Order: sequence, then C-alpha cells, then structure tokens
Amino acid sequence: MKKILFLALIATSLRSTAQTIDQYLESIRNNSAELTAFFSQMPKGGDLHNHYSGSVYAETYIDYVVGQDYVINTNTLEVRTTAPANDDNWVHFSKLNTSGQLPAYKEKLMQKWSVKDYNGISYPSDKQFFETFSGFGIANNSQARLDTGILELKRRAQKENVSYIETMFTTIHCSNLNSIDTSFNSRLEDALNKRDEALTTSLLEQLYLQIEQKGAKGCAISFNSEVADMHQSLHIDDSSFTMRYQNYVTRVVPPLEVFKSLVLSFESANTSPLIVGVNIVAPEDNEVSMRDYWLHMQMFRFCHSKFPNVKYAMHAGELTLGLVKPEDLTWHINEAVHTAGANRIGHGVDMPYEHNCYDLLQYMAKNDIAIEINLYSNEFILKVQDDKHPISLYREFKVPIVICTDDAGVLRSNLTQQYVLLAKRYKDISYSDIKRYVFNSIDYSFIEEDSIKEKLKTDLKARFRTFEKEFIATHQN
Ligand SMILES: [Zn+2]
Repeated sequence: MKKILFLALIATSLRSTAQTIDQYLESIRNNSAELTAFFSQMPKGGDLHNHYSGSVYAETYIDYVVGQDYVINTNTLEVRTTAPANDDNWVHFSKLNTSGQLPAYKEKLMQKWSVKDYNGISYPSDKQFFETFSGFGIANNSQARLDTGILELKRRAQKENVSYIETMFTTIHCSNLNSIDTSFNSRLEDALNKRDEALTTSLLEQLYLQIEQKGAKGCAISFNSEVADMHQSLHIDDSSFTMRYQNYVTRVVPPLEVFKSLVLSFESANTSPLIVGVNIVAPEDNEVSMRDYWLHMQMFRFCHSKFPNVKYAMHAGELTLGLVKPEDLTWHINEAVHTAGANRIGHGVDMPYEHNCYDLLQYMAKNDIAIEINLYSNEFILKVQDDKHPISLYREFKVPIVICTDDAGVLRSNLTQQYVLLAKRYKDISYSDIKRYVFNSIDYSFIEEDSIKEKLKTDLKARFRTFEKEFIATHQN
C-alpha cells in the first residue's frame, strides 16, 4: 500500500513538474529573451542537419587566414595563399595590419563569409548565403583547420546543452577514378531525358563496376582512417558529447562526378562506424540540380541496392513558389522518399505543393521517415516562415520531427534560436511536444551502435531531470 502511495506521489510530482514548466512556457511564448533563456538551458539532444563548414563561424576562418598571412584582393575580398603575378590588388594581411587597415578588412570579410549585417535588400538572400562557402573555402581544407572547426562545434554544443552532432563533413575524392570515360555523362543525360529507368540502371551498373575496379574501396578506407585518426586525436567521444559524420556529394556537377562521389560516400559509410550516412548538398534550385534531380534519385536507389545498410538523409524540397516553376515544386520530396528511399528528409519546405501531399505525409509517418526542420535557414534563404512553413502539416500527419540548425556559422545562429522560433511561432506546440522532438534527435540519428544511442538517451533523460529540477528551484514563486 505504501509503495502504491509512494508511486502515486511520484506520478503527481512528475505531472505537476511538467505542468509547471508547460505553464511557464505558455506564459513566455511572446518573449524572445525569456524563450532564449529557457531554451539555452533546456537539453536539446542532437543536431542532425548540420553542415560542418557552414557551422564554423567566420571569425575562426578569418583568424586562420590572417595567422597564415595569406593575401586578400582589396577589390573582390577574395583570399588566396599567394598573390598572382602582376596584380596590384592583392595585399598580405600583415601589411594591412601594419597600415592599420586590418580591422576594417576583417569586418568586410565577416560580411562576405556570413550573413552578418545583411540588410535583406541589396543582394538576393540565397546568393548571399550560398556564396559564402566559396569565400571561406580557402580556410577549410587542411587537417589542422578541420580540427579547429570540429572543436569549435563541440565547445558550442556543450555550452548550449547539445549532446550529439551528426555533421555533413566532407566529400571524398579519389584520383584513381579520374580515368573513367567521361562519355558516360552524355549517355546518362540521354537516359535522363528519356526518363528510362532500365537504361539508367544498366549504365550505372557498368560505371559502378569500373569505379570498384579502379579502387574506390581503397580510397574510401583510407579516407575513413583519416577521419578516425582525427576523431580520436581530438578526443571527441567523451562523456558529455558525441559526434558522427555524414559524407556528402554535391549536386551541381556532371552526372559522372556525382555518381563517383556517391559510390565513394556509400563505400566509406558502409565500412566506418563513425561515418553514419550520406547526403546530397548544394542549391536545389541550381540549373544542374534541377535538370539532373531525377537522375540523382536513381543513383541513390542504385547505391542503396549495393549498400543496403547505409543510411542517407537528403536535402529535398528546399524550394518554394517563385524560386522555381510551380510544377517543379510537386515532385522532389516524392522522388526522394519513393525512388531514392531516403531515411530522413532535409527541409521538405515544398511539401504543400507536392503531388498527393497527404499521401506522401502519411507514407513518411508510416515508414518513420523523419523531417529535419531548419526554421531560421528557411526564413533566410527561402523567405518561408510562420504559417507558410509546412511544419504544421508534418505535425498533423505525425511525421517524426527533428529540429536542426543547417548552417549556424553562416547564418550566425545556433540550435537554441531554432527552438525559440519554434515556440514563438507555433503556439500549439507544447513543452512535451518539444521534448519529444529532442528525443527524436537521438532516435532518428544514424548512430550505428545501439549502446551509444541508449547511452545518449539515458544521459538526455538525466539532463531533463536536472533542467526541470533546477527550473522548479528557480521558479518557486
Ligand atoms: Zn542543409
């Protein structure tokens, strides 16, 4: 009897804790500062849609190029390791420092390599966003620079109570594959124009054999050991933080390059517990991305048949009315889900325009295909926010939701801000819904070891207990 009473008391106390926090959250719904304080402290689990290079802040890249005394073109702000001959526009950072101009140029680079001070008028926001990547690319290539960035992400995560990051790390190159006949490009384009699945599969099969014969697996294994060495030397897997990596392919290059890169990515993810998935990146509305989208989905389907254990999330439907023709808003998520067989969808913003959208939502829910919601990114790049964002549709059909950052460095944002926007804009999303999304970020992660997932979930529960206990202690009156 005593035990029953005790359990009942615990249940009441848990219920009242949840209600108290729930009520508090309701009372601060319209106050960004209060929401920021709340969500900064709340455990946020994992960030599953995270681009490594876009998550490092521009300050870090600038420190690096200044420290290396690279040269900058004072007209275009392009940075290189050495100046081209006979061109007076290039100057070393040390020289700018001597002349007192370094702070001004640092500020200009911050504005070029991120969205800092962007006024929303003078330049298209999607261009402002995507062009940052080629700018800071110079500061993001060697091992030493990768180390600095990874540690930055870890430190930031720990400070905002994030315990896991699954980052889209890099793309894999393999010079052995350079000799593959480029006539495959026109043959694949021909199959694409005819939407001929059988022809496409047969071409991919021929290509796959060549790619394997030329040593793709060896390249993937040596890449994996580099990542493992880096991961170990940085002591990433400690008691309070876990990181895993996705390989990515870029969708704006010729079909042969996409496929070579995709096979390497799948090979690598198939043989490393640290590399847990594959993704496809770069602007979806780019001319090549749009033209080859159908073909890319066939490539993913093909790779899945060869590597059935490899998971993949896909940027799909990062589009909206005005960005592309309306008919092109109707099929990308459908193809990513039904043809490519994606395990998670990144963005999925064009969902309301998709063909048979309700069926598609039902299919995603039934097959446990999570949607990665990136609120601030969608607001900045696509101008989609508030009730234009399809999050309500995903909620209505019970598609598993995870809340992510996308490119916190370029966007000068963090995971906390995503939760602030979520709570402020979608007032029917309760504290327990939010908590479920946080747990989803571990459940729908691609972490391969069950023991690590369980450990992270146990840790997350403990973090929530602490958060809720401290909340009660500080909000007693
Ligand atoms: Zn993204």
